[in-house]
Amino acid sequence: MDEFSLIRRYFQRADTTPAVKLGMGDDAALLALPAGEVLAVTTDTLVAGRHFPLDTPAHAIGWKALAVNLSDLAAMGAKPLAVTLALTLPQADEDWLSAFSTGFFALANAQQVPLIGGDTTRGPLSITVTALGAVPQALAICRSGARVGDHVFVSGSIGDAGLGLALARHTTGLQQLSAEDQQFALARLQYPTPRLALGQALRGIATAMLDVSDGLLQDLGHILNASDVGADLVLDALPLSAPLRALASEPNGHAQVLRWALSAGDDYELLFTVAPSHLLRVEALAQTYNLALTDIGVIRRDRGLRMHSQGAPWHADNLQGYDHFSSSDHD
Ligand code: ADP
Ligand code: MG
Repeated sequence: MDEFSLIRRYFQRADTTPAVKLGMGDDAALLALPAGEVLAVTTDTLVAGRHFPLDTPAHAIGWKALAVNLSDLAAMGAKPLAVTLALTLPQADEDWLSAFSTGFFALANAQQVPLIGGDTTRGPLSITVTALGAVPQALAICRSGARVGDHVFVSGSIGDAGLGLALARHTTGLQQLSAEDQQFALARLQYPTPRLALGQALRGIATAMLDVSDGLLQDLGHILNASDVGADLVLDALPLSAPLRALASEPNGHAQVLRWALSAGDDYELLFTVAPSHLLRVEALAQTYNLALTDIGVIRRDRGLRMHSQGAPWHADNLQGYDHFSSSDHD
């Protein structure tokens, strides 16, 4: 199969949106930006064996390559306009391509995001998606906006993808988990949900925001640095899913679960700060989107991150010694 029939068969879709003035097939696509809005642009590459285990199903790779990019738009409060896809493939394996494109379009169609172009080359498997979104400039939610007294929130639950990666790597010591719980954690790793509606709804409410890709501690650190503030974090408040809560109650389980929640990353939940005057609006959004939005800490003037568990200070050093569960690279 030549490159052009491959592109036509697996990636060309008729569906489009008003923003797309010219789609795939020319030298460049043409995109209209809503009046008064600015373009939000983000790109992320997934390299086989580095960002996902080599035995990851192609369907999941297609979904996730798009999801992690849409999650970046969500974290800016931007609405997706279109995406491009640069694919580097060792060979034109039709089963792989069919599953990959099905996974990719499962999310693209659900979010009504058109694929407007890309590139196809031969080489070690690697997938780069560029996502283009729009947001009124004054409403874009940056990392630098956190203010002293703001509350720190995280959406959904965190740490599930860390457990999912341990399962994907066939880590021992997790046999007690039910098949259902294993399925849940694997799905959280392989099929992250970009929180697009929430991200846009937080315009004018969140003062700073990002998506949790590298782990809560590191990612919160980005907000604190960019905003030149510190924070107090209440570890007992971290939103953990039922499987993680069960694991945490086992001997030595607590530290492992905290490690996943604080440093494994790959959860693609939104981490954001909100002024006290807007806390009720966050509660209302949790209802609207039927999604947990959990208050996990407060922004302080003193730089640095202070963690507390059961009323006592807690140090990140406690996370060490569990490196056999260590997560993937997130670069
Ligand atoms: P050019 O030589 O101008 O770079 P290509 O031959 O690489 O064009 O691609 C032809 C058309 O197909 C372009 O519109 C390009 O955007 C699109 N395209 C190529 N690969 C992909 C892909 N993997 N996904 C989506 N569109 C693609
Ligand atoms: Mg090209």
